[in-house]
Amino acid sequence: MTSLAERAHAAAVFIRHNTAISPHGPYRGEEHARTAVRLAAALGLGLDQITTAPDWQRRRTSPAEPVLATATCPDTNEQYVFLSRFPIYDDEAFELLGPCPECSGHVPLALVRHLADLGTYLARPPLTPGDIPRPDTVPDTFSVDEGHSRTCRYGEVL
Ligand SMILES: [Zn+2]
Repeated sequence: MTSLAERAHAAAVFIRHNTAISPHGPYRGEEHARTAVRLAAALGLGLDQITTAPDWQRRRTSPAEPVLATATCPDTNEQYVFLSRFPIYDDEAFELLGPCPECSGHVPLALVRHLADLGTYLARPPLTPGDIPRPDTVPDTFSVDEGHSRTCRYGEVL
């Protein structure tokens, strides 16, 4: 285990480096790098266990460019995909994406600010279509997310 100062230095270098080399340009590059650092810290993972990509499906409806951040478990290789809908606001919760119980599209199923939020989500039984009308079961963005199929009763374009 490295010291806090060493890890802090590595995070700052990671952001500078990835801002400079990003194929998406320096502004998007910095948003991707900051998102990776924030998710790694929230989940207690290393930066090498986070990858980011532009979210082409959701970009058209928001002023900032959303970022998809994938966390890979170092023990099981299981992957979790998180959406940072507005990466310029780094106090916003991540949206954990998973299959819609109606259409199987990848949509927001939980808000995750830290490891315990993910733990709470994982402890719940899988969602069923009957769970969805209850607002405490899914994020507000569930019902308007672009990840739903065109025929899904959710995901209506407002
Ligand atoms: Zn759906």
